[in-house]
Amino acid sequence: MKPQVIFVLGGPGAGKGTQCSKIVEQAFNYTHLSAGDLLRAERGREGSEFGQLIDNYIKEGKIVPVEITISLLRQSMAETMTKDQTKNCFLIDGFPRNEDNLQGWNRHMEGKADVKFVLFFDCSNEVCIDRCLERGKSSGRTDDNRESLEKRIQTYLNSTRPIIEQYQKHGKVYTIDASRSVDELFTGISKIQNSPS
Ligand code: UDP
Ligand code: MG
Repeated sequence: MKPQVIFVLGGPGAGKGTQCSKIVEQAFNYTHLSAGDLLRAERGREGSEFGQLIDNYIKEGKIVPVEITISLLRQSMAETMTKDQTKNCFLIDGFPRNEDNLQGWNRHMEGKADVKFVLFFDCSNEVCIDRCLERGKSSGRTDDNRESLEKRIQTYLNSTRPIIEQYQKHGKVYTIDASRSVDELFTGISKIQNSPS
């Protein structure tokens, strides 16, 4: 079976990671893959030739060249499916974030994985910034500070929103109001069935 993929997109701090963790607790055949987490792990891996590059991109809120991200995603999907063939459903969180990401995905994955739909976590920039600053008190992340956040929001608006809009044109986006509390948001997501309208 080909990997079945749901892309989870939305601004920084919209709740993508939190909700994906909750979803996979209930939808056992799904695996949560956070592109940002995979990049942070690669940044910290001893001997990685990309550590410094990833570090700079993350601090600047820029999108890492897709060849790096896609190889991490492919490796994770392959590992999961090698361990258990029935685990072929993936929530890919925080990817594709720009045109380079999307083209890279298409180049490598066309015909090899099915993108079922995009789950779009919609909330205001203010909510995103407040949540990330709050998270920054304990996250230890190098980009949960005001300076990086302003850049991340710009990248989101200029580069990621157009990707979401492309999927919207194809009727492949579920939009959810992500300004709600963690539990309310999860209830909203749980109601989603089948394909998007
Ligand atoms: N990032 C990237 N490509 C991706 C995903 C993440 O370059 O496909 C980088 C980018 O610099 C981004 C950062 O990793 O700002 C953090 O992403 P993450 O998804 O962890 O942040 P979140 O949106 O969850 O706050
Ligand atoms: Mg995240």
